[in-house]
Amino acid sequence: MKKHTNGRCTLVGAGPGDPELLTLKAVKAIASATVILVDDLVNDAVLEHAASNARIVHVGKRGGCKSTPQAFIDKLMITAVQEGEHVVRLKGGDPFIFGRGGEEVEHLRQAGIDVTVVNGITSGLAGMSSLGAPLTHREHAHGVVLLTGHAQPGDSGTDWAQLAATAHQAKLTLVIYMGVSSLERISQGLLSGLPAHTPVAVVQNASLPTQRQALTTLGDLLNTMQREGMKSPSIIVVGDVVQGARAWRQATPVTLPLRSA
Ligand code: SAH
Repeated sequence: MKKHTNGRCTLVGAGPGDPELLTLKAVKAIASATVILVDDLVNDAVLEHAASNARIVHVGKRGGCKSTPQAFIDKLMITAVQEGEHVVRLKGGDPFIFGRGGEEVEHLRQAGIDVTVVNGITSGLAGMSSLGAPLTHREHAHGVVLLTGHAQPGDSGTDWAQLAATAHQAKLTLVIYMGVSSLERISQGLLSGLPAHTPVAVVQNASLPTQRQALTTLGDLLNTMQREGMKSPSIIVVGDVVQGARAWRQATPVTLPLRSA
């Protein structure tokens, strides 16, 4: 195969859903792409920026289809770049927060292809901002931990009890991605290290017109999820910063008043 030297690959974060949350760099990359590989959870509205003759390939599992095997996606990207295409790999949120962005970059580098990365707004951040609450706070949260609730096969996954004890002691906000299906195990573990009254926010479809949210406590999280029928994709945020959410402040007497700026 003849190799072209002007092929390139850009890994682009499409943000949490609202197309207005794309960065200018993301818009420019999408507009200049000749091939676009689109992941699950990317809002198709962002493709309005694509050139009319760009080849668009959906590789997610939306619509109940099986997702495209990772090895096939890697091969498709490598071949297209070698043929001189500008490949944009479009991922939901930020490409380097879960979603295998790091693995894809490694595979491309192994094939001698350098990759430019354009950040996107990660759903954990967008979800909390949509409630008007921060993830850190000088008094209530000294840091943030982004976690996956989904353990790899053969991996025992996160020790939620130990994590909860650390989060309690060090005042950390926990932001859990992909946590809905393992919620029982996660909330049981967290309850061994954090008080049952710890505030929790669940945000489904953050930043989209279909967004729904529930504000609850760790002790009542499972009940709330079932009662409200909250589903994936959802972000689960655990920590005192949730008390900064507009709706929380309206509904509950605030016990830890957030300092005004
Ligand atoms: N790279 C993505 C995360 C990919 S992992 C990012 O930075 O956001 C997929 C998980 O992200 C989902 O299971 C869900 O927990 C979360 N997620 C993605 N989009 C979301 C959205 N709009 N609202 C709530 N959670 C979302």
